[in-house]
Amino acid sequence: MFKSFRVGSLFGIPIKLDITLLIVLPVFAWLIGTQVGELVAVLNTVLGTTMDPAPLAAGPVPWVLGAVAAVGLFVGVTLHELGHSLVAIRYGYEIDSITLWLLGGVAQFTEQPRVWYHEFWIAIAGPIVSIAVGLACYLAILPLPAQLDAAIFVLAYLAVLNVVLAVFNMIPAFPLDGGRVLRSLFSRTQPFPEATLRAVRIGKFFAVLLGIFGLLVFNIFLIAIAFFIYIVGAAEGRQTVLTSVFDDIPASRVMTPADEVVTVPAELPLSEFLDFVMEHRHSGYPVVRHGDIVGVVTLEDFRETPPDRRAERTVADVMTTDLKTVAYDTDSTEALNEIARNDVGRVLVMDDLGEFAGLITRTDLVRAFEIQRERQLYAGIPATEGWAR
Ligand SMILES: [Zn+2]
Repeated sequence: MFKSFRVGSLFGIPIKLDITLLIVLPVFAWLIGTQVGELVAVLNTVLGTTMDPAPLAAGPVPWVLGAVAAVGLFVGVTLHELGHSLVAIRYGYEIDSITLWLLGGVAQFTEQPRVWYHEFWIAIAGPIVSIAVGLACYLAILPLPAQLDAAIFVLAYLAVLNVVLAVFNMIPAFPLDGGRVLRSLFSRTQPFPEATLRAVRIGKFFAVLLGIFGLLVFNIFLIAIAFFIYIVGAAEGRQTVLTSVFDDIPASRVMTPADEVVTVPAELPLSEFLDFVMEHRHSGYPVVRHGDIVGVVTLEDFRETPPDRRAERTVADVMTTDLKTVAYDTDSTEALNEIARNDVGRVLVMDDLGEFAGLITRTDLVRAFEIQRERQLYAGIPATEGWAR
């Protein structure tokens, strides 16, 4: 996804529009508009409606219908994602946001469900909502008089498309909903990483089929989705395996303990910061004032300070005070997630009393990963494709 902006929120979940949606929405409107005549024939056959295509395809009418139907389609996608999100929230997960983009919608989770029936119901909730929306659109047509062909057209189109959306998403191609349902079922009897890799392999197979089909019917949208399934599925598979390595290692085992962490005094002038970095050779340091950690300062903070200002400023003036922390006894996966989520180089580890216990950097995690992997290989746990680096 590219640049997205927030347009509001539903049930406390921020709804974001990706910039790519602004391109795809007019394209959809145009595609629907140019095909109103054919669509009317199809919808009349499928749903038994009796729309007259001539007035609907005349003058500016098809473009208005196209625009309304395209927006309706993305409203349907939003409801689909809300289906996933609300079930997830019911199970106690947090939803970061719902983003609408080029290929539909994505509900961003702050953590992945690991309990099989949580994932099962979260994944299947989206398609169930889409079926319900399709059905509601169909039922809404029934009382409408024939003069309202324009409204009937939009509702009929949305009735069919929401059902198509549900069916398409149930293809067992991880990371589509169907693939997640499959993984959840695999993970009833298999460890989570293996279940994921199995679902990813099946997903790749379907992605290739879909790509070939997209080529045959020359549908660029299907080809794009095939690529999306292949690439994102593989990436999520790797990520799952990676985090599973850290699952059993507490943060306290990966961190550099507090007494070995190099800290920098808050009042150190920035002009002396580079010498300090040269001496200790880390790119970032916790900042200490009166024995307490009050921030983190990095080379980046130094770089972002205009050179003519460095003489008059101290480390405390440019440090980050929004500290990212993890608890001493949580899995180091949490540290990995926290670092990735906030795009920072390091997190502070805090003990039960909220005191600074140590520091985990990206480098610490890479090193821990390699050591843990060697231990697993030594213990005879076979390498799977997810390990490929
Ligand atoms: Zn879905």
